[in-house]
Amino acid sequence: MSVTERDPVLVESGPTAPTGPGVPGEPELLLPREVPLGGPRAMLVQRSLPQRRRSLIGAWCFLDHYGPDDVSQRGMRVPGHPHTGLQTVTWLFEGEVEHRDTTGAVAVVRPGEMNLMTAGLGVAHSEYSTPGTTRVHGAQLWVALPDGAATGNRAFEHYVPPLLRVAGAEVRVFLGEWLGATGGPRTFTRLFGAEVVLRAGTEWRVPVDARDEIGVLVDRGVVAVEGVTTRRSQLVALPPGRTELELRAEPGEDARVLVLGGEPFASPIVMWWNFVGRDHDDIVRARADWQRQVDAAKAGEPADGRFGPHPASWGGTVLPAPELPTVRLKPRS
Ligand code: MN
Repeated sequence: MSVTERDPVLVESGPTAPTGPGVPGEPELLLPREVPLGGPRAMLVQRSLPQRRRSLIGAWCFLDHYGPDDVSQRGMRVPGHPHTGLQTVTWLFEGEVEHRDTTGAVAVVRPGEMNLMTAGLGVAHSEYSTPGTTRVHGAQLWVALPDGAATGNRAFEHYVPPLLRVAGAEVRVFLGEWLGATGGPRTFTRLFGAEVVLRAGTEWRVPVDARDEIGVLVDRGVVAVEGVTTRRSQLVALPPGRTELELRAEPGEDARVLVLGGEPFASPIVMWWNFVGRDHDDIVRARADWQRQVDAAKAGEPADGRFGPHPASWGGTVLPAPELPTVRLKPRS
């Protein structure tokens, strides 16, 4: 998915100060903002990360939640656009999306199947709902890459996590290691992401690593997250210090949540548009490198370079980068 806000949110972030051992910080309820994905009659998504109060949970640096949306009249359409310094994690609850990228991968993303694209120094992809898809419902997540991996090779991986039953809930750990699940693609920092379905009116307590920051996003139902009432598209962020996570689904409707966690991200980052970099100059270079490929594509020439060769089917239909802000982007340290 691509950031298409008129004024792309600038996020400058340094390492989070960890809370002392055994002293869990207070849960923080983060309300999403509604953002159009771009174009006329654009699909609206609920963006929970980044925001001014918090830019990261572990290495998780971006979270869009959307749907269920009727796309029978006009499909979800996100033309070719670039990424740097991050991994995109696509997780659907409903619908099918065709993914194409500059690793050469063509994949149909389906519910319960995780698709992971690693940008490294640069990758570009497009996402279109399939012709038979009338409703889309899912989450688009980004993981910031640490030094080394952030300038590494591009890659695309597909993973179908097993369905686990843990303490009465249905759990799918789609990335990283949690609750004994270890089967997914490798990650570059210690982190995990999982879908959890809780029966209405039940309480769920499971272990978490006290070093981790944890986030819980509600997709369906109403859930008390460490006692904080949390509704659809809302995110609760929990600082390090907990050894147990407590969720309670309110009576009436089964609840579905995403649980994200990981060690606090150690490197300063600058996020602008679809790029994650270490400083302003990283972003300026990424933008210029992408615009060269956009210009080639629009001129009908072969578009190749830092972001890899465009799939032939894209033609000139790719997203140009917005103008850079006039201020210099500075990471906090
Ligand atoms: Mn994208």
